Amino acid sequence: TPSKEGKMFIKALFDYDPNEDKAIPCKEAGLSFKKGDILQIMSQDDATWWQAKHEGDANPRAGLVPSKHFQERRLALRRPEILVQPLKVSNRKSSGFRRSFRLSRKDKKTNKSMYECRKSDQYDTADVPTYEEVTPYRRQMNENYRLVVLVGPVGVGLNELKRKLLISDTQHYGVTVPHTTRPRRSQESDGVEYVFISKHLFETDVQNNKFIEYGEYKNNYYGTSIDSVRSVLAKNKVCLLDVQPHTVKHLRTLEFKPYVIFIKPPSVERLRETRKNAKIISSRDDQGAAKPFTEEDFQEMIKSAQIMESQYGHLFDKTIVNDDLTMAFTLFQAQCLSLRSRVKICTVPYSE
Ligand code: 5GP
Repeated sequence: TPSKEGKMFIKALFDYDPNEDKAIPCKEAGLSFKKGDILQIMSQDDATWWQAKHEGDANPRAGLVPSKHFQERRLALRRPEILVQPLKVSNRKSSGFRRSFRLSRKDKKTNKSMYECRKSDQYDTADVPTYEEVTPYRRQMNENYRLVVLVGPVGVGLNELKRKLLISDTQHYGVTVPHTTRPRRSQESDGVEYVFISKHLFETDVQNNKFIEYGEYKNNYYGTSIDSVRSVLAKNKVCLLDVQPHTVKHLRTLEFKPYVIFIKPPSVERLRETRKNAKIISSRDDQGAAKPFTEEDFQEMIKSAQIMESQYGHLFDKTIVNDDLTMAFTLFQAQCLSLRSRVKICTVPYSE
């Protein structure tokens, strides 16, 4: 096999400090990293210790990091419950990396919806999080833009960020038009606020996995279709989509190459200071009017963000803390701009 040395990049899914690793042959030779860091693998000659450096680090000296296999094994030993779980999760190839995030045949056979939340926690815990292969990626001319996926707790200001970016540059950014089964209101037009369809058609589309997500509100269905994402991308725009974090893994396809941004709340003290006069719409399915934030909303937001981070943090490409809105927007805009012009790490391996 041709040497991949120096060409392989991985995203770390755990924090690593060689000083706390009893197994490493030489602590000084170790490379420390944090969950989410991108590492360039310089050598995989040793089955237990790989040589790696931080991506973009000009210093050519590589350090030792535990190999994927070694790290998986010792993690599994520490968490015996993993051993009793079926370890043959999804389609792994010999390299030990999951190469494909598309719907597996098994899913088709069992007729499990690609877009429903997989109930079994097994799916997540059986996957010992160590490293994930990533690829530096630059969009080619005539190629669609990538999908920007926004994740964050209710009230964190995700919709505000999205709205600001949209109005800042309508030519380059777009959002999906949701489908609904409720009747069209007089001031609405089909395909603008919503695509209005019948209940029967909606149910058929759900059966056929046409939705990324959907929900029911006052006896009507609402949902975001995969085709609505495609149609934004086909207009040569970056599609901005916010979803529940559990749907992110289903969006990780070669077609969408999603760049996942986690919008995180600041400390509770900063929330109190910055959201003093702001209002919250308490939940997506709650049509209730916006109300001033309460102390419970702040606590809930922070708790929910912590859960999202611990359960889905390995799927995030970037975290933006929405402390001051203007600052957060500047960061968000810069991320989306660089996504359009520069080489960015892509979590979905595309060179298959
Ligand atoms: P309305 O019928 O007043 O336009 O919206 C009613 C509710 O449907 C709102 O609370 C809104 O948040 C929700 N809704 C709108 N679009 C979607 C969607 O794409 N998916 C889901 N799950 N809910 C939606």
